[in-house]
Parts: sequence; structure tokens; C-alpha cells
Amino acid sequence: MRVLYVEDEKFLAEAVKHNLEKQDIDVDLAFDGEDGLNKAVDSIYDCVVLDIMLPKLSGIDILSRMREKNVAAPVIMLSALSEVEDKVNGLNAGADDYLAKPFKTAELAARINALVRRPAKVQSNVLKYKDLSYDTNEKLLNGESLTSKEAAIIHELMKTPEKIVQKDYLLNKVWGGEAYGEDNYIEVYMSRLRKMLRKLNSVVKITTVRGFGYKIVAE
Ligand code: CA
Repeated sequence: MRVLYVEDEKFLAEAVKHNLEKQDIDVDLAFDGEDGLNKAVDSIYDCVVLDIMLPKLSGIDILSRMREKNVAAPVIMLSALSEVEDKVNGLNAGADDYLAKPFKTAELAARINALVRRPAKVQSNVLKYKDLSYDTNEKLLNGESLTSKEAAIIHELMKTPEKIVQKDYLLNKVWGGEAYGEDNYIEVYMSRLRKMLRKLNSVVKITTVRGFGYKIVAE
């Protein structure tokens, strides 16, 4: 089992990691919100533990962006202030559990184990168009695995086949504004995806609607 723990108090983070690893829970650490979000989105974790008060992005921001990007890993929120308000905010933001600081590592381990054993809340969800089927949970296109960004693009295109998906919308949705003005990013991914469609011998292709965006159509 692999867990991501986002915590800016490094001493605490290292101590918790050490103790969890004694219980066969592998832990990756991130010390600020930005790094935490990148790791949570790009990697596969069985569970993500988020401190609320973090530099750059709060735990609640990380959680809502994870969910926007369909990262379904269960999340445990931590807060130094054991105030009801924090708990309510965390759970409203979609956290699966909440633990007030200070906590015992054994308690955290028990919560992690309980969440990871719990069956996934998200049911298998497959988008279909012509000869393509995209599994939104496994990020598989006709059984081929996609990188997280390829998957996010295909997801958007498959949601509304034959309709234009605006380029700005895609950039924003997939890169969250990081790639603002970097139109080349998207072209690179589109050409990779076109190559994959050819490899799959699909009748579906991605067409560019100049000045607007992209759509998938069948030949
Ligand atoms: Ca903190």
C-alpha cells in the first residue's frame, strides 16, 4: 500500500512516515501544497493524507483539484485546529475522513487501513463512441493505458463526441492554467493521441477546428 502524506512540518512528516512504514504502509512525502497536488495527480496512491494549512495551496484546494481531475483516492484531512469548522470544511470538500492534530500514528494507520479496504466509491464508468471505449477509472482507451494528461484530454473529447471542445477549455481543464498560452503543449498531446488511434485501427479521428478547438468524429 502506498500513501501520499502532504505536510509542511517536516519533522512530524518524517516521524509519521517512519512509523507508518513499520506497519507496511509506504509513504511518499510532499512539504507544500503545490508539490502535493502534482504528486497526488500524477501518481497512483491508495490513500492521500492532507494537512489543511500548507504553503502555496491548502489541503482543501488540493482535494478539490484532485476531484476535478478524477483522482479517486480516499483522502484523510488533518488539521492542527481541532475546530468543528475545519472538520466541516474538510468533509464538505469531499474528504473521506478527518483527524485532528496531534494524533497517534496508530490512529492514522487504522483510518488508512479502514479507507483502503473499503470498496471504491466510484463505479466503473465507460464512455463509448463508435469503436472506442474509454474507462474513466482505469484510464484505458480500448485497453491501452494513457498518461494522466492524455487521459484527461480523451475524457473531455469522449464526453461530447462530434462536438467541438474548445482549446482554452481543454488547456484549463487539463493543465489547470499552468499552460496558459502554451498552445504547443496541446498539439503534442493531440498528435500522440492521433498516433494511438491509428495504432488501435479506430474509425475515430481527432480533428482540429482551426481557431476553436478539437472534436472526435468517425471517418
Ligand atoms: Ca501545516
